[in-house]
Amino acid sequence: MAGGADTIVAVATPPGVGGIGVLRLSGPRARVVAEAIAGPRLPVRCASHRRLRSADGTLVDDGLVLFFPEPASYTGEDVVELQGHGSPVLLQQLQDAALQLGARLARPGEFTERAFLNDRMDLAQAEAVADLIHAQTAAAARLARSSLDGALARELEPVGAEIRALRVLIEAEIDFGETDLESTAAVEVATRAAELAASIDDLVARLRPARVFSTGLRLALVGAPNVGKSSLMNRLADAEVAIVTEIPGTTRDVLRAPIAIDGIPVELIDTAGLRESDDAVERIGIERARSAAASADIIVEVLDLTRPEARAPLPDLPGIPVLQVWNKVDLMPGGGAQALRVSAFSGEGIDRLRAAIRAEIGLGDPGEQRFSVRSRHLEGLSAAAACLRRIDVGLAPDLIAEELRLAERSLEALLGRGDPEELLGAIFAGFCIGK
Ligand code: GDP
Ligand code: ZN
Repeated sequence: MAGGADTIVAVATPPGVGGIGVLRLSGPRARVVAEAIAGPRLPVRCASHRRLRSADGTLVDDGLVLFFPEPASYTGEDVVELQGHGSPVLLQQLQDAALQLGARLARPGEFTERAFLNDRMDLAQAEAVADLIHAQTAAAARLARSSLDGALARELEPVGAEIRALRVLIEAEIDFGETDLESTAAVEVATRAAELAASIDDLVARLRPARVFSTGLRLALVGAPNVGKSSLMNRLADAEVAIVTEIPGTTRDVLRAPIAIDGIPVELIDTAGLRESDDAVERIGIERARSAAASADIIVEVLDLTRPEARAPLPDLPGIPVLQVWNKVDLMPGGGAQALRVSAFSGEGIDRLRAAIRAEIGLGDPGEQRFSVRSRHLEGLSAAAACLRRIDVGLAPDLIAEELRLAERSLEALLGRGDPEELLGAIFAGFCIGK
Protein backbone atom coordinates (compact mmCIF):
# COMPACT_ATOMS: atom_id res chain seq x y z
CA MET A 1 0.00 0.00 0.00
CA ALA A 2 1.19 3.48 -0.86
CA GLY A 3 1.49 5.16 2.54
CA GLY A 4 -0.13 8.52 3.20
CA ALA A 5 -2.40 8.41 0.17
CA ASP A 6 -5.44 10.64 0.37
CA THR A 7 -8.97 9.44 -0.30
CA ILE A 8 -10.38 10.00 -3.76
CA VAL A 9 -13.92 10.03 -5.06
CA ALA A 10 -15.52 10.09 -8.52
CA VAL A 11 -18.70 9.11 -10.30
CA ALA A 12 -17.74 5.88 -12.08
CA THR A 13 -20.74 5.61 -14.39
CA PRO A 14 -20.92 7.74 -17.56
CA PRO A 15 -22.43 11.24 -17.42
CA GLY A 16 -26.16 11.39 -18.10
CA VAL A 17 -29.27 9.62 -16.93
CA GLY A 18 -29.22 5.88 -16.19
CA GLY A 19 -30.98 3.19 -14.20
CA ILE A 20 -28.26 3.29 -11.59
CA GLY A 21 -25.23 5.49 -11.03
CA VAL A 22 -22.11 4.52 -9.11
CA LEU A 23 -19.98 6.71 -6.89
CA ARG A 24 -16.60 5.21 -6.12
CA LEU A 25 -14.31 5.99 -3.19
CA SER A 26 -10.78 4.75 -2.58
CA GLY A 27 -8.25 5.46 0.13
CA PRO A 28 -7.68 5.22 3.87
CA ARG A 29 -10.79 7.29 4.72
CA ALA A 30 -13.09 5.70 2.11
CA ARG A 31 -14.96 3.71 4.75
CA VAL A 32 -15.34 6.62 7.18
CA VAL A 33 -16.63 8.90 4.42
CA ALA A 34 -19.01 6.22 3.10
CA GLU A 35 -20.35 5.47 6.59
CA ALA A 36 -21.04 9.17 7.11
CA ILE A 37 -23.17 9.05 3.95
CA ALA A 38 -24.67 5.56 4.24
CA GLY A 39 -24.66 4.85 7.97
CA PRO A 40 -22.30 2.82 10.18
CA ARG A 41 -21.06 -0.78 10.11
CA LEU A 42 -20.78 -1.44 6.39
CA PRO A 43 -20.56 -5.19 5.85
CA VAL A 44 -17.44 -6.44 4.08
CA ARG A 45 -17.81 -7.53 0.41
CA CYS A 46 -21.53 -7.77 0.79
CA ALA A 47 -24.20 -5.46 -0.60
CA SER A 48 -26.32 -3.61 1.93
CA HIS A 49 -29.32 -1.43 1.15
CA ARG A 50 -28.91 1.99 2.76
CA ARG A 51 -30.32 5.50 2.83
CA LEU A 52 -27.75 7.87 1.40
CA ARG A 53 -27.44 11.29 3.01
CA SER A 54 -25.58 14.52 2.38
CA ALA A 55 -22.97 15.77 4.85
CA ASP A 56 -25.61 17.65 6.91
CA GLY A 57 -27.82 14.57 7.12
CA THR A 58 -30.38 15.48 4.44
CA LEU A 59 -31.74 12.41 2.66
CA VAL A 60 -30.46 12.31 -0.94
CA ASP A 61 -31.23 8.82 -2.22
CA ASP A 62 -31.21 5.17 -1.28
CA GLY A 63 -29.14 2.43 -2.84
CA LEU A 64 -26.68 -0.39 -2.46
CA VAL A 65 -23.33 0.02 -0.76
CA LEU A 66 -20.35 -2.27 -1.31
CA PHE A 67 -17.25 -2.15 0.87
CA PHE A 68 -14.00 -3.82 -0.24
CA PRO A 69 -11.31 -3.55 2.45
CA GLU A 70 -7.66 -3.29 1.45
CA PRO A 71 -5.67 -5.04 0.09
CA ALA A 72 -8.03 -7.25 -1.95
CA SER A 73 -9.81 -4.43 -3.78
CA TYR A 74 -9.48 -2.89 -7.25
CA THR A 75 -7.01 -0.25 -6.05
CA GLY A 76 -5.46 -2.25 -3.22
CA GLU A 77 -6.87 0.36 -0.78
CA ASP A 78 -10.20 0.47 1.03
CA VAL A 79 -12.79 0.92 -1.72
CA VAL A 80 -16.49 1.73 -1.35
CA GLU A 81 -19.02 1.80 -4.16
CA LEU A 82 -22.30 3.60 -3.62
CA GLN A 83 -24.94 2.57 -6.14
CA GLY A 84 -27.75 5.08 -6.26
CA HIS A 85 -30.31 6.02 -8.88
CA GLY A 86 -28.64 7.13 -12.10
CA SER A 87 -29.48 10.80 -11.84
CA PRO A 88 -26.66 13.26 -12.45
CA VAL A 89 -28.18 15.58 -9.82
CA LEU A 90 -28.26 12.90 -7.10
CA LEU A 91 -24.78 11.63 -7.95
CA GLN A 92 -23.45 15.19 -7.81
CA GLN A 93 -24.99 15.62 -4.34
CA LEU A 94 -23.41 12.38 -3.12
CA GLN A 95 -20.06 13.37 -4.60
CA ASP A 96 -20.31 16.80 -2.92
CA ALA A 97 -21.04 15.04 0.38
CA ALA A 98 -17.89 12.92 -0.01
CA LEU A 99 -15.85 16.03 -0.84
CA GLN A 100 -17.18 17.84 2.24
CA LEU A 101 -16.32 14.80 4.33
CA GLY A 102 -12.67 15.02 3.28
CA ALA A 103 -12.35 13.07 0.03
CA ARG A 104 -10.86 14.76 -3.02
CA LEU A 105 -11.97 14.48 -6.64
CA ALA A 106 -10.03 11.75 -8.48
CA ARG A 107 -7.92 12.61 -11.50
CA PRO A 108 -8.61 10.71 -14.74
CA GLY A 109 -7.34 7.14 -14.37
CA GLU A 110 -6.38 7.62 -10.74
CA PHE A 111 -8.20 4.50 -9.46
CA THR A 112 -6.31 2.36 -11.98
CA GLU A 113 -3.07 4.24 -11.29
CA ARG A 114 -3.43 3.35 -7.61
CA ALA A 115 -4.09 -0.28 -8.58
CA PHE A 116 -0.80 -0.22 -10.48
CA LEU A 117 1.13 1.58 -7.71
CA ASN A 118 -0.19 -0.94 -5.17
CA ASP A 119 0.92 -3.89 -7.34
CA ARG A 120 -2.62 -4.99 -8.14
CA MET A 121 -1.67 -5.01 -11.84
CA ASP A 122 1.32 -4.30 -14.07
CA LEU A 123 1.44 -1.31 -16.41
CA ALA A 124 0.36 -3.29 -19.48
CA GLN A 125 -2.70 -4.47 -17.54
CA ALA A 126 -3.50 -0.90 -16.51
CA GLU A 127 -3.32 0.12 -20.17
CA ALA A 128 -5.59 -2.82 -20.98
CA VAL A 129 -8.23 -1.38 -18.64
CA ALA A 130 -8.35 1.75 -20.82
CA ASP A 131 -8.33 -0.33 -24.01
CA LEU A 132 -11.14 -2.52 -22.70
CA ILE A 133 -13.31 0.47 -21.78
CA HIS A 134 -12.74 2.06 -25.17
CA ALA A 135 -13.02 -1.13 -27.25
CA GLN A 136 -15.25 -0.53 -30.25
CA THR A 137 -15.80 -4.11 -31.32
CA ALA A 138 -16.21 -7.46 -29.59
CA ALA A 139 -12.86 -8.61 -31.01
CA ALA A 140 -11.08 -5.53 -29.65
CA ALA A 141 -12.67 -6.13 -26.24
CA ARG A 142 -11.60 -9.79 -26.28
CA LEU A 143 -7.96 -8.84 -26.99
CA ALA A 144 -7.94 -6.14 -24.29
CA ARG A 145 -9.51 -8.61 -21.85
CA SER A 146 -6.61 -11.05 -22.45
CA SER A 147 -4.12 -8.24 -21.87
CA LEU A 148 -5.90 -7.40 -18.63
CA ASP A 149 -5.34 -11.02 -17.60
CA GLY A 150 -1.59 -10.45 -17.91
CA ALA A 151 -0.96 -11.91 -21.39
CA LEU A 152 1.93 -9.57 -22.19
CA ALA A 153 3.74 -10.37 -18.93
CA ARG A 154 3.37 -14.09 -19.67
CA GLU A 155 4.68 -13.61 -23.21
CA LEU A 156 7.72 -11.74 -21.84
CA GLU A 157 8.52 -14.27 -19.11
CA PRO A 158 10.75 -16.61 -21.18
CA VAL A 159 12.51 -13.61 -22.76
CA GLY A 160 13.31 -12.14 -19.36
CA ALA A 161 14.42 -15.54 -18.06
CA GLU A 162 16.86 -15.98 -20.96
CA ILE A 163 18.34 -12.50 -20.44
CA ARG A 164 18.84 -13.25 -16.75
CA ALA A 165 20.52 -16.57 -17.62
CA LEU A 166 22.91 -14.77 -19.96
CA ARG A 167 23.67 -12.19 -17.29
CA VAL A 168 24.56 -14.96 -14.83
CA LEU A 169 26.92 -16.50 -17.38
CA ILE A 170 28.79 -13.31 -18.22
CA GLU A 171 28.81 -11.90 -14.68
CA ALA A 172 30.32 -15.11 -13.30
CA GLU A 173 33.09 -14.62 -15.78
CA ILE A 174 33.62 -11.01 -14.66
CA ASP A 175 33.58 -12.12 -10.99
CA PHE A 176 36.33 -14.64 -11.69
CA GLY A 177 38.43 -11.83 -13.06
CA GLU A 178 38.20 -13.06 -16.63
CA THR A 179 38.29 -10.07 -18.94
CA ASP A 180 39.46 -11.84 -22.09
CA LEU A 181 37.65 -11.10 -25.30
CA GLU A 182 36.13 -14.07 -27.11
CA SER A 183 36.08 -16.27 -24.02
CA THR A 184 33.95 -19.41 -24.12
CA ALA A 185 31.26 -17.71 -22.08
CA ALA A 186 31.32 -14.59 -24.28
CA VAL A 187 30.92 -16.72 -27.39
CA GLU A 188 27.97 -18.57 -25.89
CA VAL A 189 26.33 -15.36 -24.65
CA ALA A 190 26.77 -13.63 -28.02
CA THR A 191 25.27 -16.60 -29.88
CA ARG A 192 22.28 -16.88 -27.57
CA ALA A 193 21.78 -13.08 -27.51
CA ALA A 194 21.57 -13.03 -31.31
CA GLU A 195 19.02 -15.87 -31.24
CA LEU A 196 17.00 -14.07 -28.59
CA ALA A 197 17.06 -10.82 -30.58
CA ALA A 198 15.70 -12.71 -33.61
CA SER A 199 12.91 -14.29 -31.57
CA ILE A 200 11.98 -10.87 -30.12
CA ASP A 201 11.78 -9.51 -33.68
CA ASP A 202 9.41 -12.39 -34.52
CA LEU A 203 7.32 -11.58 -31.48
CA VAL A 204 7.09 -7.91 -32.50
CA ALA A 205 6.05 -8.88 -36.03
CA ARG A 206 3.43 -11.24 -34.60
CA LEU A 207 2.04 -8.70 -32.14
CA ARG A 208 2.15 -5.54 -34.28
CA PRO A 209 -1.02 -6.15 -36.35
CA ALA A 210 -3.13 -6.38 -33.18
CA ARG A 211 -2.60 -2.65 -32.66
CA VAL A 212 -5.23 -1.95 -35.28
CA PHE A 213 -7.95 -3.31 -32.95
CA SER A 214 -7.42 -0.36 -30.61
CA THR A 215 -6.20 2.34 -33.00
CA GLY A 216 -8.74 1.46 -35.69
CA LEU A 217 -8.20 1.56 -39.42
CA ARG A 218 -9.02 4.35 -41.86
CA LEU A 219 -10.11 3.31 -45.32
CA ALA A 220 -10.62 5.95 -47.99
CA LEU A 221 -12.75 5.04 -50.99
CA VAL A 222 -11.65 7.01 -54.03
CA GLY A 223 -12.69 6.74 -57.65
CA ALA A 224 -14.51 8.44 -60.50
CA PRO A 225 -18.15 9.45 -60.04
CA ASN A 226 -20.70 6.64 -60.35
CA VAL A 227 -18.26 3.74 -60.11
CA GLY A 228 -20.10 2.70 -56.93
CA LYS A 229 -18.11 4.12 -54.01
CA SER A 230 -21.17 4.97 -51.93
CA SER A 231 -22.83 1.63 -52.77
CA LEU A 232 -19.68 -0.22 -51.77
CA MET A 233 -19.53 1.74 -48.55
CA ASN A 234 -23.11 0.78 -47.77
CA ARG A 235 -22.33 -2.84 -48.56
CA LEU A 236 -19.23 -2.92 -46.37
CA ALA A 237 -20.99 -1.06 -43.59
CA ASP A 238 -24.09 -3.20 -43.90
CA ALA A 239 -26.25 -0.13 -43.34
CA GLU A 240 -27.51 2.79 -45.34
CA VAL A 241 -25.05 5.47 -44.37
CA ALA A 242 -24.45 7.24 -47.69
CA ILE A 243 -26.86 8.66 -50.23
CA VAL A 244 -26.79 6.66 -53.45
CA THR A 245 -27.98 8.50 -56.56
CA GLU A 246 -27.48 8.34 -60.28
CA ILE A 247 -26.46 11.98 -60.70
CA PRO A 248 -22.64 12.25 -60.86
CA GLY A 249 -21.13 14.43 -58.18
CA THR A 250 -23.84 14.06 -55.49
CA THR A 251 -21.40 12.97 -52.83
CA ARG A 252 -20.22 16.51 -52.30
CA ASP A 253 -18.85 16.12 -48.86
CA VAL A 254 -16.70 13.48 -47.27
CA LEU A 255 -18.83 10.85 -45.55
CA ARG A 256 -17.41 8.92 -42.66
CA ALA A 257 -18.95 5.74 -41.37
CA PRO A 258 -17.72 3.70 -38.43
CA ILE A 259 -17.94 0.03 -39.35
CA ALA A 260 -16.25 -3.21 -38.34
CA ILE A 261 -14.40 -5.50 -40.70
CA ASP A 262 -13.77 -8.87 -39.06
CA GLY A 263 -13.77 -7.16 -35.69
CA ILE A 264 -11.41 -4.37 -36.73
CA PRO A 265 -12.89 -0.95 -35.99
CA VAL A 266 -12.81 0.83 -39.33
CA GLU A 267 -13.57 4.39 -40.28
CA LEU A 268 -14.74 4.32 -43.87
CA ILE A 269 -14.30 7.54 -45.75
CA ASP A 270 -16.33 8.02 -48.91
CA THR A 271 -14.87 10.88 -50.89
CA ALA A 272 -16.45 13.04 -53.54
CA GLY A 273 -15.21 12.15 -57.00
CA LEU A 274 -11.60 13.25 -57.24
CA ARG A 275 -11.83 15.24 -60.44
CA GLU A 276 -11.40 18.75 -61.67
CA SER A 277 -14.53 20.84 -61.57
CA ASP A 278 -15.68 24.41 -62.19
CA ASP A 279 -18.38 24.15 -59.58
CA ALA A 280 -17.16 25.98 -56.47
CA VAL A 281 -19.01 23.80 -53.96
CA GLU A 282 -17.80 20.66 -55.64
CA ARG A 283 -14.23 21.94 -55.71
CA ILE A 284 -14.31 22.30 -51.92
CA GLY A 285 -15.53 18.70 -51.73
CA ILE A 286 -12.67 17.53 -53.94
CA GLU A 287 -10.11 19.29 -51.75
CA ARG A 288 -11.62 17.67 -48.67
CA ALA A 289 -11.47 14.31 -50.40
CA ARG A 290 -7.75 14.75 -51.02
CA SER A 291 -7.00 15.57 -47.40
CA ALA A 292 -9.28 12.78 -46.17
CA ALA A 293 -7.39 10.31 -48.37
CA ALA A 294 -4.11 11.63 -46.98
CA SER A 295 -5.18 10.58 -43.46
CA ALA A 296 -6.11 7.05 -44.53
CA ASP A 297 -4.21 3.85 -43.76
CA ILE A 298 -5.36 2.24 -46.99
CA ILE A 299 -6.81 3.80 -50.10
CA VAL A 300 -9.40 1.67 -51.83
CA GLU A 301 -9.54 2.71 -55.47
CA VAL A 302 -12.93 1.80 -56.84
CA LEU A 303 -13.17 1.07 -60.56
CA ASP A 304 -16.11 0.16 -62.77
CA LEU A 305 -15.85 -3.03 -64.88
CA THR A 306 -18.38 -1.62 -67.35
CA ARG A 307 -16.35 1.57 -67.82
CA PRO A 308 -12.67 0.68 -67.31
CA GLU A 309 -11.70 4.11 -68.60
CA ALA A 310 -13.56 5.89 -65.77
CA ARG A 311 -10.69 6.55 -63.41
CA ALA A 312 -10.12 9.40 -61.04
CA PRO A 313 -6.66 10.87 -60.74
CA LEU A 314 -5.32 9.30 -57.55
CA PRO A 315 -3.94 11.80 -55.08
CA ASP A 316 -0.19 11.50 -54.88
CA LEU A 317 0.19 10.02 -51.41
CA PRO A 318 3.36 7.99 -51.16
CA GLY A 319 3.42 5.43 -48.38
CA ILE A 320 -0.32 4.76 -48.36
CA PRO A 321 -1.08 1.41 -49.99
CA VAL A 322 -3.72 1.39 -52.73
CA LEU A 323 -6.12 -1.54 -53.16
CA GLN A 324 -7.79 -1.65 -56.57
CA VAL A 325 -11.33 -2.95 -56.51
CA TRP A 326 -13.35 -3.54 -59.67
CA ASN A 327 -17.04 -3.06 -59.01
CA LYS A 328 -20.24 -4.11 -60.83
CA VAL A 329 -19.12 -7.66 -61.59
CA ASP A 330 -22.85 -8.53 -61.66
CA LEU A 331 -23.06 -6.64 -64.97
CA MET A 332 -19.96 -8.36 -66.37
CA PRO A 333 -20.07 -11.93 -65.07
CA GLY A 334 -16.79 -13.64 -65.88
CA GLY A 335 -15.52 -10.46 -67.47
CA GLY A 336 -12.04 -9.11 -66.83
CA ALA A 337 -9.03 -10.77 -65.28
CA GLN A 338 -8.69 -8.27 -62.43
CA ALA A 339 -7.99 -9.81 -59.07
CA LEU A 340 -10.53 -8.05 -56.88
CA ARG A 341 -13.88 -8.09 -58.68
CA VAL A 342 -16.86 -7.28 -56.52
CA SER A 343 -20.45 -6.28 -56.73
CA ALA A 344 -21.81 -3.75 -54.30
CA PHE A 345 -25.22 -4.95 -55.51
CA SER A 346 -25.01 -8.70 -54.99
CA GLY A 347 -22.27 -8.78 -52.38
CA GLU A 348 -20.13 -11.01 -54.58
CA GLY A 349 -16.41 -10.72 -53.80
CA ILE A 350 -16.96 -8.62 -50.69
CA ASP A 351 -15.44 -11.34 -48.47
CA ARG A 352 -12.33 -11.36 -50.68
CA LEU A 353 -12.14 -7.58 -50.35
CA ARG A 354 -12.28 -7.93 -46.57
CA ALA A 355 -9.48 -10.53 -46.67
CA ALA A 356 -7.38 -8.26 -48.92
CA ILE A 357 -7.78 -5.40 -46.43
CA ARG A 358 -6.68 -7.70 -43.59
CA ALA A 359 -3.70 -8.91 -45.60
CA GLU A 360 -2.68 -5.32 -46.35
CA ILE A 361 -2.20 -4.60 -42.63
CA GLY A 362 -0.52 -7.95 -41.97
CA LEU A 363 -3.45 -9.53 -40.15
CA GLY A 364 -3.93 -13.20 -40.78
CA ASP A 365 -7.11 -15.11 -40.08
CA PRO A 366 -9.64 -13.49 -37.79
CA GLY A 367 -9.07 -14.73 -34.26
CA GLU A 368 -5.30 -15.14 -34.69
CA GLN A 369 -4.52 -12.15 -32.46
CA ARG A 370 -4.53 -13.08 -28.83
CA PHE A 371 -4.13 -9.85 -26.90
CA SER A 372 -4.00 -6.10 -27.39
CA VAL A 373 -0.71 -4.24 -27.75
CA ARG A 374 0.30 -0.63 -27.88
CA SER A 375 3.12 1.03 -29.80
CA ARG A 376 4.88 1.53 -26.48
CA HIS A 377 5.13 -2.24 -26.02
CA LEU A 378 6.48 -2.84 -29.51
CA GLU A 379 9.04 -0.03 -29.09
CA GLY A 380 10.19 -1.46 -25.75
CA LEU A 381 10.61 -4.91 -27.25
CA SER A 382 12.55 -3.52 -30.22
CA ALA A 383 14.79 -1.55 -27.85
CA ALA A 384 15.59 -4.76 -25.96
CA ALA A 385 16.36 -6.57 -29.22
CA ALA A 386 18.67 -3.70 -30.28
CA CYS A 387 20.70 -4.04 -27.05
CA LEU A 388 20.99 -7.79 -27.59
CA ARG A 389 22.14 -7.28 -31.18
CA ARG A 390 24.96 -5.02 -30.01
CA ILE A 391 26.45 -7.94 -28.07
CA ASP A 392 29.41 -9.28 -29.94
CA VAL A 393 32.21 -11.70 -29.04
CA GLY A 394 34.64 -8.82 -29.58
CA LEU A 395 32.98 -6.84 -26.76
CA ALA A 396 34.54 -6.77 -23.27
CA PRO A 397 32.56 -8.89 -20.74
CA ASP A 398 31.54 -5.86 -18.67
CA LEU A 399 30.13 -4.18 -21.78
CA ILE A 400 28.23 -7.36 -22.66
CA ALA A 401 26.82 -7.37 -19.14
CA GLU A 402 25.78 -3.73 -19.53
CA GLU A 403 23.86 -4.42 -22.77
CA LEU A 404 22.06 -7.30 -21.06
CA ARG A 405 21.15 -5.02 -18.16
CA LEU A 406 19.77 -2.43 -20.59
CA ALA A 407 17.75 -5.09 -22.44
CA GLU A 408 16.31 -6.30 -19.15
CA ARG A 409 15.43 -2.75 -18.15
CA SER A 410 13.54 -2.20 -21.44
CA LEU A 411 11.40 -5.25 -20.71
CA GLU A 412 10.77 -4.17 -17.13
CA ALA A 413 9.68 -0.71 -18.30
CA LEU A 414 7.02 -2.41 -20.44
CA LEU A 415 5.37 -3.73 -17.32
CA GLY A 416 6.04 -0.50 -15.41
CA ARG A 417 8.79 -1.81 -13.16
CA GLY A 418 11.14 1.04 -12.38
CA ASP A 419 8.27 3.51 -13.06
CA PRO A 420 9.59 6.64 -14.76
CA GLU A 421 7.11 9.31 -13.64
CA GLU A 422 6.46 11.02 -16.95
CA LEU A 423 5.57 7.67 -18.55
CA LEU A 424 2.96 7.00 -15.85
CA GLY A 425 1.56 10.51 -16.18
CA ALA A 426 1.16 10.13 -19.93
CA ILE A 427 -0.53 6.74 -19.67
CA PHE A 428 -3.05 7.54 -16.94
CA ALA A 429 -3.93 10.94 -18.40
CA GLY A 430 -5.58 9.00 -21.25
CA PHE A 431 -8.21 7.55 -18.90
CA CYS A 432 -11.60 8.95 -18.04
CA ILE A 433 -12.47 10.13 -14.54
CA GLY A 434 -13.80 7.40 -12.30
CA LYS A 435 -11.49 4.71 -13.72
P1 GDP B 1 -20.30 6.79 -56.51
O1 GDP B 1 -20.60 8.04 -57.22
O2 GDP B 1 -18.97 6.24 -56.88
O3 GDP B 1 -20.45 6.90 -55.03
O4 GDP B 1 -21.36 5.70 -57.02
P2 GDP B 1 -22.74 5.24 -56.36
O5 GDP B 1 -22.51 4.29 -55.25
O6 GDP B 1 -23.56 6.44 -56.07
O7 GDP B 1 -23.35 4.38 -57.57
C1 GDP B 1 -23.47 4.92 -58.89
C2 GDP B 1 -24.45 4.07 -59.68
O8 GDP B 1 -23.93 2.77 -59.90
C3 GDP B 1 -25.81 3.89 -58.96
O9 GDP B 1 -26.82 3.90 -59.95
C4 GDP B 1 -25.67 2.52 -58.37
O10 GDP B 1 -26.91 1.92 -58.24
C5 GDP B 1 -24.82 1.79 -59.40
N1 GDP B 1 -24.02 0.69 -58.81
C6 GDP B 1 -23.16 0.78 -57.77
N2 GDP B 1 -22.58 -0.43 -57.51
C7 GDP B 1 -23.12 -1.30 -58.41
C8 GDP B 1 -22.93 -2.72 -58.65
O11 GDP B 1 -22.17 -3.44 -58.00
N3 GDP B 1 -23.64 -3.25 -59.66
C9 GDP B 1 -24.51 -2.52 -60.44
N4 GDP B 1 -25.17 -3.13 -61.39
N5 GDP B 1 -24.68 -1.20 -60.24
C10 GDP B 1 -24.01 -0.58 -59.22
ZN1 ZN C 1 -20.94 8.46 -53.92
